[in-house]
Amino acid sequence: MEEDFTFAIIKPNAVRNKHTGPILARINEAGFNIAAMKMLSMSRLQAEAFYDVHRGKPFFDGLVEFMSSGPVVVMILKAENAVEEFRKLIGNTDPAKAEEGTIRRLFAASLQMNAIHGSDSPENARKEAGFFFSGFERFWS
Ligand code: UDP
Ligand code: MG
Repeated sequence: MEEDFTFAIIKPNAVRNKHTGPILARINEAGFNIAAMKMLSMSRLQAEAFYDVHRGKPFFDGLVEFMSSGPVVVMILKAENAVEEFRKLIGNTDPAKAEEGTIRRLFAASLQMNAIHGSDSPENARKEAGFFFSGFERFWS
């Protein structure tokens, strides 16, 4: 089952600040279909596993602490060219460099607390979705 999807996380700062609703509205308005979604809290160990590619970098410990600091909303988003289009919608990792109107520009508190995650490739979307959603949950559409 090859589907065009990406995987996203509304990060703890955005959930805490009641930005979940406005962010979901923007995602829908941009044409994405929310195929699966849930709210949960990540343990430190789970956040470490999710960001394993960044292990050893100077920002890793702070990132893990932040991502396990409160509830997040995880979701699978369907659209044509989903990975690339969603990265455009969220904007640059650094909100100061993110284009006007992007989700990070609008809702990020800092480079670390940048409100939202979006997978950077279809392979990683599949891998990351697999951390949070079972096979049955991914029988969307
Ligand atoms: N991050 C950080 N400091 C940095 C770079 C990244 O705190 O100097 C955090 C930020 O939350 C970012 C996440 O680590 O979203 C993953 O970094 P990546 O370079 O993969 O950026 P992304 O793919 O999220 O745009
Ligand atoms: Mg990344």
